[in-house]
Amino acid sequence: MPKYHIWTIGCQMNKAESERLGSYLEQLGYQPATADDADLIVVNSCVVRQSAENRVVNKLNALRPLKRLRPTLTLAVTGCLVNANLAQLKERFPQVDYFFKPGDYPQWLEKLGWEQILPQHPVPSTYVSIIQGCDNFCSYCIVPYRRGRNRSRPVKEITAEVSELVNCGAKEVTLLGQNVDSYGHDLPDQPDLADLLRELNAIDGLLRLRFLTSHPRDMSPKLIEAVASLDKVCEQLSLPVQSGNNEILTAMRRGYTVEQYRQLITEIRDKIPRVALSTDVIVGFPSETEQQFQQTFDLLSELRFDTVHVAVYSPRPGTLSAREFEDNIPAEEKRRRLNKIERLQEGIAAEINARLLGKTVEVLVEGERKGKWYGRTRSGKLVFFTNHNNCLGQLMNIRIEKTSPWSLQGKVRRGK
Ligand code: SAM
Ligand code: SF4
Repeated sequence: MPKYHIWTIGCQMNKAESERLGSYLEQLGYQPATADDADLIVVNSCVVRQSAENRVVNKLNALRPLKRLRPTLTLAVTGCLVNANLAQLKERFPQVDYFFKPGDYPQWLEKLGWEQILPQHPVPSTYVSIIQGCDNFCSYCIVPYRRGRNRSRPVKEITAEVSELVNCGAKEVTLLGQNVDSYGHDLPDQPDLADLLRELNAIDGLLRLRFLTSHPRDMSPKLIEAVASLDKVCEQLSLPVQSGNNEILTAMRRGYTVEQYRQLITEIRDKIPRVALSTDVIVGFPSETEQQFQQTFDLLSELRFDTVHVAVYSPRPGTLSAREFEDNIPAEEKRRRLNKIERLQEGIAAEINARLLGKTVEVLVEGERKGKWYGRTRSGKLVFFTNHNNCLGQLMNIRIEKTSPWSLQGKVRRGK
């Protein structure tokens, strides 16, 4: 039996695509294996930041001797490294046999019909990509250049896929898109994410629905209302703000002001009382002054997110900011700003999570690690607990006894 190995880096969409590709290969008769044993190695790449691209390049270079040793090994690369200039990629990485764009499957992988393939044994919690690409062209971002423009999947197709996943054992589905709340605008009858959530909420056996990542400009009152009113849609939203300064937001081409963002968060918290919010921030954008950075810091202190993903600015070839602005904040200064936000957020997350001490939360159990079961609350908090029986895929009531900025620990609460 042929063997495969998939190496993945980057966002949830890459992880979901790799999961799907693995199932597909298994239906073609491949078995999972380590890179050393595999007949086919797929590298699912990310180039959103230079650091990710460096890791991909290192990985491909490390695979070069393996390919020389075993010429029958097939090496394929997908993800955001793959651009239109295949000839240049082939010259740079001669060890690679095939390059294919994300979701764009080549003939040798198409024998079974890619779209029909679902994970064979989905874990209780799984991902479904509902929209590819992005129309936004934020000045720093390479995604629209590598993943193309918005392409939403029809509501019917997604509903059928989620129903099938639920039949195979999935209890929770996270809908994915680079800009998930712009879903449907490109479809003929223009359904939106709220319409899709309503359809999916009606699927028997499905317990929870989530979606990420949302763009603040596309977060409509109708969508907020849908999250507030649909029982399976979890109280968790991911809304990248990127900066707390209006000049930087304009240079980033984000399409909103700090005041509009703050108003949006107020509306969300008003309509969805226990909502958990996460955001993304970039520090060290070209010419970001200490004062402008401080405004981002102050906004995060004021809005108190459950989670903050902070990244140092990385100029990406071909993007507007890389062409127009000098990357003039020194690396150590970027790192200092990043560390300062990470320390702030650690304190905020510790305080938010500490409020759950002594409370009972509902956890959907996703697996077992080092003798402890783990799963997530509706708000997305990771919870560990011990239980003698197999409770995989079950909803458990857990009384929280210990908290940290990153996770919670507790005991099963039996009875009412
Ligand atoms: N679509 C989402 C949004 O509106 O922000 C996020 C998708 S983006 C691929 C994921 C995150 O990567 C962004 O939120 C941003 O913080 C980070 N990112 C993207 N380009 C970057 C760059 N050039 N330098 C540093 N971080 C970057
Ligand atoms: Fe990139 Fe997100 Fe902006 Fe699209 S909305 S260009 S994915 S940062």
